[in-house]
Amino acid sequence: MTRMAAVALGLFVAAGSLTSTICAAQQPATPDFDVLGVEAAERLGEYIRIRTVNPPGNETAGAKWLQQVLAREGIAAEIFESSAGRGNLYARLPGNGSKRPLVLLSHIDVVPATDSAWRVGPWSGETRMGAVWGRGALDMKGTGIVELMTMVALRRRGVPLSRDIILVANADEETGSSGAEWFTREKRALLRDAEFLINEGGHNRLGADGRTEYYGVGVTEKVPYWLRITARGTPGHGSIPRPDNAAERIARALGRIAAYRTPIKLTPPAERYFKDLATRERDPRRRKWFADPASALRDPVAVRFFTANLYYNAILRNTISITVLHGSEKTNVIPPEASAELDVRLLPGERPADFVRELRRVIADSSVEITPLRPEREATTSPLGGPLMEAIRQAVETMEPGALITTPMLTGYTDSYYYRAIGIGAYGLSPFRLSEEDARTVHGNDERVTVENLRFGVEFFYRIVERVAR
Ligand SMILES: [Zn+2]
Repeated sequence: MTRMAAVALGLFVAAGSLTSTICAAQQPATPDFDVLGVEAAERLGEYIRIRTVNPPGNETAGAKWLQQVLAREGIAAEIFESSAGRGNLYARLPGNGSKRPLVLLSHIDVVPATDSAWRVGPWSGETRMGAVWGRGALDMKGTGIVELMTMVALRRRGVPLSRDIILVANADEETGSSGAEWFTREKRALLRDAEFLINEGGHNRLGADGRTEYYGVGVTEKVPYWLRITARGTPGHGSIPRPDNAAERIARALGRIAAYRTPIKLTPPAERYFKDLATRERDPRRRKWFADPASALRDPVAVRFFTANLYYNAILRNTISITVLHGSEKTNVIPPEASAELDVRLLPGERPADFVRELRRVIADSSVEITPLRPEREATTSPLGGPLMEAIRQAVETMEPGALITTPMLTGYTDSYYYRAIGIGAYGLSPFRLSEEDARTVHGNDERVTVENLRFGVEFFYRIVERVAR
């Protein structure tokens, strides 16, 4: 939708409900999102200028700034450090308690940036060419500001709420999620009874025609299960080859792993996603495959189609990427030990122990050790329906009627894992509509978000939160 159409639609919607609302509350049905969008851009610039690069993080500085902004609106916030300098912010807008709380989650830390590679300084927070520039503009200070402005707008308007709205900004998402892990363990009482949570992990894909291809809501994500494999042998001089060379043993194991194809498994979120894509697919054969992926995946031609797409492939199976390799430091020395690390990502419903058993069978060498580098975890999935999904549907229907809403599985990993693990339905939702090119600036160069996207995001999140907390 163009901006003009969006504004016109907004006016039309506002006019439609004008009489009743003004009589009831003496204010328009919705806030002035244009004004809120400009305000969001100013706040985002300030937030970006507070350097919270992880490592070391220094999130307490960011948390203090958020606390000041909230204090100006009369919203009290507390800061809890998960370790020195690693601040986690918590604030609550009370409802009448008839429904369970909703959490708006973000992380304060950002990844490093190479200044010289950017067109506008990554720590400038400047608005140029219609966008706010800087590290974190998308991942995820921009979303944090949209959540903040949503809470602020509800507070300013004194909207009566059926459920508490809780704002949480965690430390250390980018290098190990220690903030979320600590917060959900040590401050669990603050989240007691929370029903839903909105976090990063969604993606609204903008097509070349300016329409949104789909609104993607994250209901699940694969779980990293990183492994090290190690082989030992007798060391010696490279001029005398030995049959028990550790490096060769690891090379043989890696050859088998690289050739191995993990089984294809259709999980309910992936099946739902493909069925949603079927409603928009123009090619008749593909439409048939998407509409019934369970049957299609028994057809080798369809399997080739699905697995040739790297994203579809990754959501249909456990995956293994061979990444780190260690052997000898010298060409003429046979090492006593050689190892490799595997970036394994498990689908929802998979047990790590079963995967390791399968991997042992594939390696077929009992002298090769397998050591997990991360704790054993299983992916969890939030309900595909329910009041929050319904509120998202209605917000999309108001803002971009007819647009597709679907639930693509995240192949990466977010803090949502820790919140799902304590029973909160976590949903990855982006407030922005991004082209593939925009999305590539996340963790890359020239990360930025347009002021129009901030305006859109505040309206999108406000409509969702206001509806689900009505
Ligand atoms: Zn992030």
